[in-house]
Amino acid sequence: MSNNKSDPKSPGEYGICPHCNKKKLRIIDQAGDGEITSIRLYCDACEWDEVLEFAGTKKIKFSHADYEKFRRIDQKPPFIARLLQVFIIDYKDLSGHFKVYDTTYYVEQETKYYNLPKRQLLVLLFEEKVTNLLFTTIRTANPEKLEYYERAQGDDFLVLAG
Ligand SMILES: [Zn+2]
Repeated sequence: MSNNKSDPKSPGEYGICPHCNKKKLRIIDQAGDGEITSIRLYCDACEWDEVLEFAGTKKIKFSHADYEKFRRIDQKPPFIARLLQVFIIDYKDLSGHFKVYDTTYYVEQETKYYNLPKRQLLVLLFEEKVTNLLFTTIRTANPEKLEYYERAQGDDFLVLAG
C-alpha cells in the first residue's frame, strides 16, 4: 500500500539494489499498531521504491542481528526471506566449515560463535527476497518443528533478531 509510506529520507540500512546494483538501497521499517507490518525498500540511485507487506507472515527469530551470514547477503533483520528447503542432519555430520559459516556473529569488534546443541538438527535454507541470495540457519530438530518447516517450504518469513 502506498498510503502508509514513511519519509524516504529517514535513516535506514544500505543494501545492494537489485535494479541498479548500487549499494544505495535503504530498508525502512514501517510500524503499524506498535509492530512493524511492512518494510519499504527505497533506492537512492535509481529511485526504485517498493513496500513489502508482511502482516500475517510467518516469523523466524535469530538470537543476534549481526551474523556473518547476514553480512554476506548485505542484510540486517528485519527482512523477508523464502524458505526453500528443510534438511535433517546430525551434529556430528556437520562440517567445521558449515558450523563456522552458520554460527559466526559479532558483538562490537568481537567474533563469537553460537553454541549448537550436539544432537539431531534441522538446516533451513532461505532465499532473501530482494537479492535472491541464500543463507541458512541451524535449529534443534523435533517432530513438530520438522512438520512445521516442511509445510512452510515455499513460504515467506519475516526474519527478526533480538
Ligand atoms: Zn537502484
